[in-house]
Amino acid sequence: MGVRYVSTNGGGGEVCFRDALIRGQAPDLGLYVPAVIPRLTSDELYGFRGMEYHKIAYEIAFRFLEDDIPKGELARITRQAYDFDVPVERVHGRVHVMRLDRGPTASFKDFAARMMARLMHYYLRLDGGSVTVLTATSGDTGSAVANAFHGLSGVNVVVLFPEAEVTDRQRRQMTTLGGNVTAVAVDGKFDDCQSMVKKAFADKALLGLKLSSANSINFGRLLPQTVYYFWAHSRVADNAGEKVVFSVPSGNFGDIMGGVYASMMGLPVERFIAATNENDEFPRFMASGGYKPLRPSKACISNAMNVGHPSNLARLFNVFGGWMDEQGRVKRLPDMDALRRLIWSVSVTDERTRESIRSAYSRWGVVLEPHGAVGWSALEEYLLASGDKPAVLLETADPAKFPGEIVSLLGFEPKLPDSMSGLESRIESYGRMRAVYNDLRRFLLAGSTP
Ligand SMILES: *Cc1c(COP(=O)(O)O)cnc(C)c1O
Repeated sequence: MGVRYVSTNGGGGEVCFRDALIRGQAPDLGLYVPAVIPRLTSDELYGFRGMEYHKIAYEIAFRFLEDDIPKGELARITRQAYDFDVPVERVHGRVHVMRLDRGPTASFKDFAARMMARLMHYYLRLDGGSVTVLTATSGDTGSAVANAFHGLSGVNVVVLFPEAEVTDRQRRQMTTLGGNVTAVAVDGKFDDCQSMVKKAFADKALLGLKLSSANSINFGRLLPQTVYYFWAHSRVADNAGEKVVFSVPSGNFGDIMGGVYASMMGLPVERFIAATNENDEFPRFMASGGYKPLRPSKACISNAMNVGHPSNLARLFNVFGGWMDEQGRVKRLPDMDALRRLIWSVSVTDERTRESIRSAYSRWGVVLEPHGAVGWSALEEYLLASGDKPAVLLETADPAKFPGEIVSLLGFEPKLPDSMSGLESRIESYGRMRAVYNDLRRFLLAGSTP
């Protein structure tokens, strides 16, 4: 039997992976977390060294899913989901950049979305059901999810994005697909979109739509996000036991939670660096032990990280024995000493982010976009204090998604990946909505009646 899942709010019993995946959120509004975390031996870690990415993905997923899904099916899913490169490039000494931007929508969100879409499709085919995947995006989730589900039968996708906070290219990646994908521009912030989506999930009038979430509250997204930590470690560490520092540009904390679960599975990690932009509620919490969401969130140039209350903190608290409820209220503090031993967090201003884009290029010839640059700046600060260590920065998007900043800071146009060429000439189509829950409700109800 595969791993079972429980809610961070403690209500209800255990559910299987299928239910955690399709529901997205637990009925008591908590987040699903694994009841038991599978562990890998160091021999198994050693075995990853010569393995291709999709095979490592299979090995990890298999530990969670076991006989929840046939082996051959899982192997096919991981092979098809990960048919692109995952470069780990040495920058200097033992410091590396892992480029998670080679998927079809050029951000790390592809890693989770592609696997999750295939798993969901597998289960829907079994049951012959259909779902509406409703998701809020700060820029990259929407396109990754839309692209991953595009054309899959039995799935309708509705993506809400904050109109003023996404780049032209990010918007076009969502609005030019058509078919089973509907994009909606919201006159508000990402946090507004996220809270509208949360309300829709709690709304009994929408039960008939079988709403499903593809946001990072879905454990189906976290599972694939553990894999690239194993991958990077297998390329960078001298031996299977060597500890590695990972710097993770963080917004909703789904990416870094993948790493935290990887470390609980036995991956040797020196430290995770939770690098945030000026939305600094987490680094402030780490320093003071007091948590206060930031409302409204600040609009920084690393737009996918403009999050005033990261939804995955509930999971992080859970891992360290704490309890944060769905409103972001701290019901029980986590073990702060243990948390601080595993994670160091710092907030990076836009000014420092720009400086970091400039210096990474002039010193090392490395082109970073604003999210990766937040992580790079934090990593440099950390290594300055701790001395040289094997380290990996997760570069979470392709610089071509943020051409404005690159052109003005570095003086050239970043190279457009094949996946994004032709975007400018495609026809856009999308709806518009106020940041008011009733508008979303009306919209969803209208769409669901023939
Ligand atoms: C979503 C995103 C992040 C933040 O990831 P979280 O899982 O929300 O912490 C960072 N960089 C880019 C480019 C993103 O799209």
